[in-house]
Amino acid sequence: MAGPLGPKDRKTKKADDVTALHNDARARMLDEALDSAIARLHEEGRYRTFIDIERESGRYPHATWRRPDGSERPITVWCGNDYLGMGQHPVVLSAMHEAIDRTGAGSGGTRNISGTTVYHKRLEAELADLHGKEGALLFTSAYIANDATLSTLPKLLPGLIIYSDALNHASMIEGIRRNGGAKRIFRHNDLEDLRAKLEADDPAAPKLIAFESVYSMDGDFAPIEAICDLADEFGALTYIDEVHAVGMYGPRGGGVAERDRLSARIDIVNGTLAKAFGVMGGYIAASHKLCDAIRSYAPGFIFTTSLPPAVAAGAAASVAHLKTDQALRDLHQERAAVLKLRLRGLGLPIIDHGSHIVPLIVGDPKHTKLLSDMLLDDFGIYVQPINFPTVPRGTERLRFTPSPVHGSGEMDALVRALDILWGRCALNRAELAG
Ligand SMILES: *Cc1c(COP(=O)(O)O)cnc(C)c1O
Repeated sequence: MAGPLGPKDRKTKKADDVTALHNDARARMLDEALDSAIARLHEEGRYRTFIDIERESGRYPHATWRRPDGSERPITVWCGNDYLGMGQHPVVLSAMHEAIDRTGAGSGGTRNISGTTVYHKRLEAELADLHGKEGALLFTSAYIANDATLSTLPKLLPGLIIYSDALNHASMIEGIRRNGGAKRIFRHNDLEDLRAKLEADDPAAPKLIAFESVYSMDGDFAPIEAICDLADEFGALTYIDEVHAVGMYGPRGGGVAERDRLSARIDIVNGTLAKAFGVMGGYIAASHKLCDAIRSYAPGFIFTTSLPPAVAAGAAASVAHLKTDQALRDLHQERAAVLKLRLRGLGLPIIDHGSHIVPLIVGDPKHTKLLSDMLLDDFGIYVQPINFPTVPRGTERLRFTPSPVHGSGEMDALVRALDILWGRCALNRAELAG
């Protein structure tokens, strides 16, 4: 065994050396590529750091920030998407506890293979009712719901052309990009551009207009009714992402389309259970037949484990609760209006389209990050910087999401801190706030 190397062994050793050399070169190449990709992010001030926070049940928006060195600091969260505080609502928590006690943790399968439970069916019925549709279909998230639905539609409608708003969420862009069908990007909320693009195409081609009701970064609304009019005129289907509106707008929380009495003119609604509903998961609501087809053709629905029953139970409780809690919706809008009024009073350049989202434009990634760091370190106020590619370069911002649980004490502290820091950083105030 331990004798001198034979000719065969020598050959093997040489091959091993060559392989090792290859592996070395490959590892070096990967290292260099990753280093330069990450360095680029640092240079542009958009390297992302995740803040470690621990939410404590019943105390939102108060939480604990755990620093990298292990020390702790109490903070107030001002950038969460738990818009109504439903993530800690007793109705939601007790529904989840009860479901866990009855059925355990996971669903144990895909929807097709043992993973459909009474909780999933109940939640889908709750969502169909919320939007006045025949059916609804659950997905792991609204990201997946958008991606899976939009990438599957051309399989069902050969020749489909999708008209997509330029500021649509990444999940819609991804679904439309991957579907291999024709797409037209129209300028954000620009009806003339949309009309021109519809007119330029074959009248006989199947068409779909995909847009959002509330755009999450500026907080502006789509001209839903006018888009529905164009859809009627050109025989197009309508697909609306109401992720930043469900639970919060409309007399039962059905979104802006419900508020504006346009639900019947929308063919497919997309929503999330993770933002205002405070839990996790996404869905589409549409005709029974469309849900039936997507259910059977979308890989993103078929080949993945269904949501845990407790998650479905919590989401259903949240949706059901918000169908009647108009007071919470009113308080949410009131809190947002007060924060905007107070920031405008300081002359800070906020964007105000009348929604619940309060973006404060800083306009430079490094300043935005610096402000965010100082708010956290010096004042215990947590608001994540929003940089490219989430928003266009030059419009970097802090995006505040006031909720019914952000009281006047929290708001006083925020306004005071921003006033001090804006002065300290010598940032511009709006000439005339408006
Ligand atoms: C957050 C978001 C989504 C994705 O929702 P998740 O349920 O978190 O995956 C989809 N569309 C828009 C506009 C969003 O902001």
